[in-house]
Amino acid sequence: MTYSEPARTTARRIPRILVAGLLLVFAAIVAALGSQLLASSSSRADLPIVLRGEHRGLRSEHRGLRSEHRGALGEADGAVPEGATVFNDEIPGVANLDPDLVGALRQAATDAADEGVETFVNSGWRSPEYQNQLLHEAVSEYGSEEEAARWVATAETSAHVSGDAVDIEHSDATAWLSEHGARYGLCQIYINEPWHYELRPQAIDHGCPPMYADPTHDPRMQQ
Ligand SMILES: [Zn+2]
Repeated sequence: MTYSEPARTTARRIPRILVAGLLLVFAAIVAALGSQLLASSSSRADLPIVLRGEHRGLRSEHRGLRSEHRGALGEADGAVPEGATVFNDEIPGVANLDPDLVGALRQAATDAADEGVETFVNSGWRSPEYQNQLLHEAVSEYGSEEEAARWVATAETSAHVSGDAVDIEHSDATAWLSEHGARYGLCQIYINEPWHYELRPQAIDHGCPPMYADPTHDPRMQQ
């Protein structure tokens, strides 16, 4: 607004405009206060929703608990930070894998990178405590031990705990491995886990063995 020309004809209107402007400002203040009050009064109600959201994230989290998972076991137990690769020796989840598996993974990751495909590690070696925690979380996520067993093994049976399995990210990397992995001896083991790879050296000459529908069909899991 400009008052450079306080013409007689507009002189009467200006106060009205001012009043209208003040009303707007007042309305804005009331609205701001109102939303603040609303925010503070509803923050309590929001909390369970936030927690539920985190819980829902477990479905993907269970493959490799992220370090953001507050109160969870850390990297020393096999949690792998975002963006880790098979070349990250300093990460126990990678360093404690079977050396032959790591060697095959590095060859494959190098060749995949040549084709523009980046290979990340979502999870590798896990301590028994970490595996048990994942299983525990999977049971509450999936609602029963039977259903959880389709996705997470016990510490006694998990190929992750023995250092013989790796979960790969992302989908283009798993797609690359499903096409080329056998030539490195890297095989998908379970149909329901396209990210889970183990070393099957005989695959280099004979191709990967038939997959199990899910871990419950794997004789190694029948202990
Ligand atoms: Zn796995």
